[in-house]
Order: sequence, then structure tokens, then C-alpha cells
Amino acid sequence: MGPLQKNLSVEANSEIVAHALKEGINFVDTAEMYRTYEPIALAIKKTGIRPIIASKSNKKTYEGMETAINEALTKLEVDYIDIFHLHAARERQDVFELFDGASKCLMEYKKKGKIKAIGISTHSAAVTAMAAENEMIDVVFPIINMAGLGILDGTKEDMSAAIDKLAATDKGVYLMKVLAGGGLLPSYNEALSYARSMKGYAAIAMGMTSIEEVDYNISYFNGERVADITKTSSAKKALVFRALCKSCGKCLTACPNNAISFDEEGKACIEKSSCLTCGYCAPACPEFAIRVV
Ligand code: SF4
Ligand code: SF4
Repeated sequence: MGPLQKNLSVEANSEIVAHALKEGINFVDTAEMYRTYEPIALAIKKTGIRPIIASKSNKKTYEGMETAINEALTKLEVDYIDIFHLHAARERQDVFELFDGASKCLMEYKKKGKIKAIGISTHSAAVTAMAAENEMIDVVFPIINMAGLGILDGTKEDMSAAIDKLAATDKGVYLMKVLAGGGLLPSYNEALSYARSMKGYAAIAMGMTSIEEVDYNISYFNGERVADITKTSSAKKALVFRALCKSCGKCLTACPNNAISFDEEGKACIEKSSCLTCGYCAPACPEFAIRVV
């Protein structure tokens, strides 16, 4: 719902979160990058319901992570964050060395009680398997979907095996992009059944942008069979406004799914079949040439 994607106002966004909390959704996944702290704080005020909150930052240094944690505490208006992740979507096997400073900061804030659990969000099957053996990590947030879209360092079978490995530990697991950013909406039931066949996961993070989508998902998880979701929701698309593109390449680096390349005229071009509509490319573009609609 935030500025990377639907760009709803704080008020409109908070109404949808408040509805979700009142209907029993008890876990909210956010990030420094998503810029959705204010509407979540407002929804908590409106309802008096404090959900489990996970946030994340891609800052690699101690100081960068400290600023990110304090921003989350201040803007969410909470005394502690339940889970704070290394936001490491596209990082590979050297991730724990890269985030060494940030990790030290997370461990210190956990000792102070400002963070209850340290996590990692990742698209990599290899990193998910490594996380199972990393003592610092309490919670893992891996991508998984029946089409295998967005998975780095392996197939969906490799990721599923890495999730199995986590299930044999005492670490928490919740699942990301089970509908592949909306691309699997036409196969909603099948895609959810696949995700729910994973072992040992505690929750599924699903993006929702309207009260209808919240109600649809709640009905599904309550075991009710309701109308075709494609009637209440449509898949998103990431678009490049070519006239604005200055060919700087920043979006190519920002995309965790390698979905952007230059076309023959040197303009950024998004490959629809690889795009998970995460929206990470939009804020990376200094020309505001990318929108997720
Ligand atoms: S092209 Fe943009 S929206 Fe699509 S996967 Fe890459 S970063 Fe996400
Ligand atoms: S970041 Fe923006 S300007 Fe740069 S290549 Fe991508 S779309 Fe073009």
C-alpha cells in the first residue's frame, strides 16, 4: 500500500490495516524501505490492537542499522520491534560478512530488549540454508512460490529443502511472495496450497491493497471458499516511462530478480515474466521513471 506500490494516503492505508487487525490478522511485515510505518502506527492507535511487527533494513554498517532501528521505533511509536531483519533480498553467500556491522548492532539492540528477534529476509536458497546454521538468526523470511519465480541460487525444490532444514531447528519461518507478486493470482488456491505444504512455517506474508483483498484472504484462511479473487483484485505491473529514462542503470542494480535490462535504445526494460512487482526499482530511479501500478 505504500509509496513503492499503490501509494495510498496514510489515512487510506491505515483504514485497511485497521480492518485487518480488527478481523484477526495479527502480524504485519514492513521495512525501512517500504515507508509504511506511519499508517501502521495510526492503525494501532485506531484499534488499540498491537500486532507482531517485523521490519527490516538493508543497511550494512552498525550506524546505518542503528538509525534504521531507531526510525522504526519512533515512527511505529512502539517500545520494541518483534522481528528486525537483515533486508538481504538479493545478497548471496557472503551476506553475513557483508552485514557484519549491522549484525553487531542488531545483537546489541536485542540485548537491550528493543528487538525481540533477529531475522533475515532472502530470495536465495543457499542463504536460507546457511541461515539454518547461523546462531544469530532467530527468524527467516524466504521467498517461495509454486512457479519458482524470484528464487536465487537454486530452484523451488532447493528452496523447499532449505525451508525443511529450517523446520528442523528452533528458528521461526514465515513465507514471502507465495503469489509471486500477484502473478499467480489466477491460480490462487493452487499457489496457496503449494506454500502451505512447506514444513515448519508460522505465517505467510501477503500484500493487500484493499479491504476486499483483506476479506478475501481471511475467508480463504478460515477455510471458506469465496468468489474468484481475480474479480476483486488484479495483478500489478511495473512500468518504465521510457521518455523519462536516462539510462543510469540504478534500477538494474536495485532489482532483486534481475528482471530489468537495457533495450536496444539503452532504455530500462522490465521482463514481465521475471518481475515480482516488489517495487524496489521505483525509489532507486532518480528520474521517477518507474511506477508499479
Ligand atoms: S522490475 Fe522492479 S518491481 Fe519488478 S521485480 Fe525488479 S525491482 Fe521488483
Ligand atoms: S534508474 Fe531510472 S533513469 Fe536509471 S536506467 Fe532505470 S529507469 Fe532509467
